[in-house]
Amino acid sequence: MELQDVKGIGPKRIELLRQLHIESAEDLLRYYPKEYIDYTRLSAIRELTEGEHATIRVCVLSEPSVFYYKGRHIVSVRVSDETGTAVLRWLNQPYRISQFHTGDCFLASGIVNKKRGTVLYNPQINRTNNGIVPVYASIKGLTQTVIRSAIGAILEQYDLVDHLPLKWREQYRLAGFRDAITEIHFPTSTEALQAARRRLSFEDAFLYFTAVGSAKSERKRRNGFAFHIADRDAFLNTLPFTPTDAQRKVMSEIESDMQSDVPMNRLVQGDVGSGKTVVAEYALYIASRNRKQGVLLAPTELLAEQHFHKLKNRFPDAVLYVGSMKKAQKDEALARIERGDTQVVIGTHALLSDNVRFFDLGLVVTDEQHRFGVLQRAKIETKGIRPDVLVMSATPIPRTIALLIYADLDLSVINAMPPGRKPVKTHFVPAAKRKDLYRHISDKAKAGERAFVVCPLIEPTEGFDGLSLQELVPEIRTLMPEIRVGYLHGQMPEEEKTAAMEAFRTGKTPVLVSTTVVEVGVDVPEATVMVIEGADHFGLATLHQLRGRVGRSSMESHCYLLADKLSQHAKQRIETLIGTSDGFLIAQKDFEMRGSGDLFGVRQSGEGDLNGFLTGCSVDTIRDASNATKEVLTVPTVVNNSLIEEACRRFRLPGIIAHN
Ligand code: ADP
Ligand code: MG
Repeated sequence: MELQDVKGIGPKRIELLRQLHIESAEDLLRYYPKEYIDYTRLSAIRELTEGEHATIRVCVLSEPSVFYYKGRHIVSVRVSDETGTAVLRWLNQPYRISQFHTGDCFLASGIVNKKRGTVLYNPQINRTNNGIVPVYASIKGLTQTVIRSAIGAILEQYDLVDHLPLKWREQYRLAGFRDAITEIHFPTSTEALQAARRRLSFEDAFLYFTAVGSAKSERKRRNGFAFHIADRDAFLNTLPFTPTDAQRKVMSEIESDMQSDVPMNRLVQGDVGSGKTVVAEYALYIASRNRKQGVLLAPTELLAEQHFHKLKNRFPDAVLYVGSMKKAQKDEALARIERGDTQVVIGTHALLSDNVRFFDLGLVVTDEQHRFGVLQRAKIETKGIRPDVLVMSATPIPRTIALLIYADLDLSVINAMPPGRKPVKTHFVPAAKRKDLYRHISDKAKAGERAFVVCPLIEPTEGFDGLSLQELVPEIRTLMPEIRVGYLHGQMPEEEKTAAMEAFRTGKTPVLVSTTVVEVGVDVPEATVMVIEGADHFGLATLHQLRGRVGRSSMESHCYLLADKLSQHAKQRIETLIGTSDGFLIAQKDFEMRGSGDLFGVRQSGEGDLNGFLTGCSVDTIRDASNATKEVLTVPTVVNNSLIEEACRRFRLPGIIAHN
C-alpha cells in the first residue's frame, strides 16, 4: 500500500507525512490518535471542579477581548450555559480573536482552572462533531481533517490482512484487525474503543515479544567470547567504598556470565542511588583485562560525560564519543576506536551510527536502558561479534511484568542501598510558601549545601503554563542575591553544559536551575536539596528519578514539590511520592495509574513503529501476549513461522526463524 495511491494524498502531503515517520498507507493506519475527546459526556459549568478535563456546551456572551500578561498575548471569550458563565482563554494564539462572535454556540474542552472564576485555558473547540473524536499529533500544514479523511480513504480502498490466527479471537478475547483499526480512528462507543485498544496493544506486545524472543534463541545458539576473570580484589581495593552484598552478588553473576562462551545478556535492576555504576565498571574492567573493547552507552550527553570523567581514573585511555563534539575531536575518537587504541568507549546514541567501527568489541553496557529501544540495543551489538551485553535500569518495575517485558534478559537485582543513606524527606510546598522556601535554601547554600531546582520548560511556551528556566533563573537570583546560581538545559552547547555541571559539582554555584536533563544518572553526592517547580507537570517515574539525585551521601536530604494547582491525578502522584521512597512500590502505583507507560522504552527512543498502544498495555494484555509468544516460538508450524516473520518485519530485526 503506497501513500501516493491514497485518495486525497499528493506529493506535498506525502512530504509532511514523512516528517511524522509515516512512509506507507499501513504506517498511516497505525498512526493512532494521541487522545480522544468525548463529546458525549457534557458537564455543566456550575459543576466544574478544579483540574478536571471537561467538555461544556456554551454560547458566546460578548465579543472576544485581548490583553497582555507577562509578555503573553491572551484572547478571552466569555461564554455561558444554562447553569453559569465561564471564560475561555488562549495564550499566544492571536488568530483566535476573529473566530468567535456573540451568540455563537459550540462545544469547548479543556482543563478547568478555578483560581479566578471558571477558566478553560487553550480549550479545543468543536462546532460540528458529536460523539468521541480522535485527536492526532499533527504538524503545521497537516490538519486533523486531512489525517482523518486519508485514513477513511485507506479503509475504503484496501483490504486489511489480519495477521493473528482466527482462534485467538476467542482464546484471548480479541477484536478483528479491520474492526479494531476502524474503531480506533472512528470510535463509536467507549466500550468498543476499549476493545479495539486491547486488540491492537495485544498485537504490538505479541509481535514485540516474538521478535525479541526469536532473536534471543538465535543468540543462545551462537558462541561468544569466554572471558578470563581477573583478580576481583584488585578491582575492589581501588574503590573509595566497600561494595554492598547486593553489589557483590551481581558482580558474581556477571563473572559467571562473562566466563561462559554463551554471550551474557543480563539486566541489572536497582533503584536510583543503589550503586549500579560500579557494577558496570567491573564488567568493563574484566573486558579490558582481556584486551577486549567495552562500550558504555548513556541516554544523555551529560551522563556520558559524567561516566567518562569517573572512569578516566581507572582507564586513562578511555574515549568519549557524543553527537555535539567537534568534527576533529570526533574523527580522532573514531580512529582510536577503530585502531583499538582504547579498551573503553563511552558515549550516547551517536555511537550507533554506521561510521563508528570497533577494533574488537567484546562488551556492550547500556545505562538507563529503558531510555533505549530494542532496535538500538540490537544495533550496537552488531558492531562486535556476539559481544556480551549488560543493561542497567533504574526504573524498577513490578517483577512479574519485568519478567514478561524483558523476557530476553537474565535479571539481577540490587535490592539494598549503600550503608548510611537516609531516606529523602519529601514535602509539598503550596504557592504561598514559595518565597520562604527559597530563603531557607539560600541559608543552606551559605552553609555549604547544594540544591537542584528543576522546572518543566526552557522558555515560556505557547499553550503551556509551567514555569520556565528563563523566568526562574532571574527570579531566584533576586531571591538569593548572595548566592551564585547556575543553570543547565539540553540545548546549551556541550562546553557550557559541562562547565555548568562542574561549577555545581565543585560548589562554585551551589544552586543549579535546570530542566529534566538531570533526570537520569547525574551523581553529585554533595547535593542535598531537590526543588521541583511545576511538579504537577511530571509523571511519577520522573519525580522519583529527580528525587534520586539527592540523598546520595550520609547527609540528610530534602525534596520540595511545588505546584499552583493540583489535578486529582497530580495530587495522587505527590501523595504517593511523599508516602514512600521505594522505587518498586512507586512503579507499581504508576502502573496502576497509567498502564505500562513507557516500560518498553520505545517512546523516548523514538522508534516510530511502536508509537501505538504498547504504552497503554494492561498487565493481563501483556500476560496474554506473552503466552501467545511462548506458543508461537515453541511449536513450529507454517502459521507460527509466518507470525515470527511478521514480528521481525515489524521490528526490522534480521528475519530469523528460530525455534528453541
Ligand atoms: P545508580 O544506581 O543510581 O546509578 P550510582 O552508581 O550513581 O547509583 O551510585 C550512587 C552513589 O553511591 C555514587 O556516588 C557512588 O559512588 C556511591 N556508592 C555506590 N556504591 C556504594 C557503596 N557500596 N558504599 C558507599 N557508596 C556507594
Ligand atoms: Mg546510574
